[in-house]
Amino acid sequence: MGTTPTAERMVLGPGRSPRLSLFAVAHHPCLGSECDLPYSADRGKKSVNRQALDELKQQIPLLDYLQAQDWQPVRPLSGGRWMGLCPLHADRKPSFLVDPGKSLFYCYGCGRGGDVIRFAEIYHDLKFPQALALLRQWRGLAPLLQQATDFYRMQLHRHPEAVAYLLQRGVRSPKLIEHMRIGYAPGGCLRGWLMQLGYPLPALRQAGLVTAVGYDAYVNRIVFPLEGNLYGRSISAAAPPHRFLPGAKGGLYAWEQARRYPEVILVEGLFDYAVLWQAGFHNVTCAMGTHLNARQFQQLCDGPHTVYLSFDADANGSGQQASQQLAHRLEAHGIPARHIVLPAGHDPNSFFVQGGDAGQFQSLLEAAQS
Ligand SMILES: [Zn+2]
Repeated sequence: MGTTPTAERMVLGPGRSPRLSLFAVAHHPCLGSECDLPYSADRGKKSVNRQALDELKQQIPLLDYLQAQDWQPVRPLSGGRWMGLCPLHADRKPSFLVDPGKSLFYCYGCGRGGDVIRFAEIYHDLKFPQALALLRQWRGLAPLLQQATDFYRMQLHRHPEAVAYLLQRGVRSPKLIEHMRIGYAPGGCLRGWLMQLGYPLPALRQAGLVTAVGYDAYVNRIVFPLEGNLYGRSISAAAPPHRFLPGAKGGLYAWEQARRYPEVILVEGLFDYAVLWQAGFHNVTCAMGTHLNARQFQQLCDGPHTVYLSFDADANGSGQQASQQLAHRLEAHGIPARHIVLPAGHDPNSFFVQGGDAGQFQSLLEAAQS
C-alpha cells in the first residue's frame, strides 16, 4: 500500500530513538500532562523558532483543523476529550482520541499521536517544514475562505437564476445544499463585503478571490467550498465552466464520509456527486476531474475499499481511458476497481437529471465489471 513508508516513518517519528517511540506507543505521553515535543531540539533545526511554533499551534486549535478536514467526533470522553474514526488509517471503530484542551491526538489503532503539526505531517504526507508552511497558509486562508463561503451561501437564495441552474442540474434537496454548503457568486459584491469585514485588498488578491485589477474573480458561478479552495461552476455558457482558486484542489471530496464504506463510488464532478448523494448514495466521493493528485490516490489506497469508477462516458473516450488507467494503478496497489457503465454520452449527473433513479443506478453498480 502507498502508505507504508509514511506509517513506518511516523511510528518511529523523524529523528527519534526507537526507545523513545516505544515509550510513546505504550504510554502515549502526548495525552498526559508532560508532553512537549521539542521540535527545535530533537530535529536539530535551529531555524525553527520555538515561540513561532507555539504561536502557530495556538492559532490553529487541533479540533478546528480536524473538523476542517471533515473529521467528526463520535463519542465524548471525560475532560472534554473525544473519540472518533482515525483519519490516518483505515479505522472501523473509533480509536482516535482528541484532547481539544491540550490540542493533542492519539490513535489506539495506528499508535500515532502528537499535535496539529504532527497531524498535518502524517495526514498530508509532508515533511516537517512543508507541514509548517501548509499550516501557516491555512491559518491565513481558512478564515477568509470561510467568510467568502458564508457570503456566497447567503446569496444563493437571493438569485433565482442560481436556484434555476441548480434545479436544471438536478439539485433539489435543501439537505443536499446544506450538506455541500453550496453558494452563489453573483460578482461585484464579495470584495466590498470582505473589505468591510477588515480584510485588506492584497489578501483578497493573494487568495485569488479578487482579480489583479480588483474585481470579484467569481462572477455568475455556483460555488462549492473544498478543503482550502473554492470551486466555481459558471451558470453562463459564455465563461469557462470550471474555476478553482490558485493552489491545490485538495483531497477527495467528502472523503471522511465515503471512507467508512467498504465500497466507494468515485465520480468526476461535483454535480455527479450531488445527484448521487441526493439519491441516497452516501458512499460517493469526487476527484474534481479525472486526474487524481497524489493525495487523492493515496486516500483511495488507504483502506480495504472496492472502488467503483463512474467517469463521464465521453464521445472521444477520454473518460473511459482515464478510468482504465486509474483502475490499473489501483489494482497494482491491491485495491479492486470496477467500472460503472452508463448509457452512451451520460455522466452520473445527466443520468439522474434525465430520469434515472436510485434503483436503476444500483443495477448499474451491481453490473459493474473490473
Ligand atoms: Zn490511526
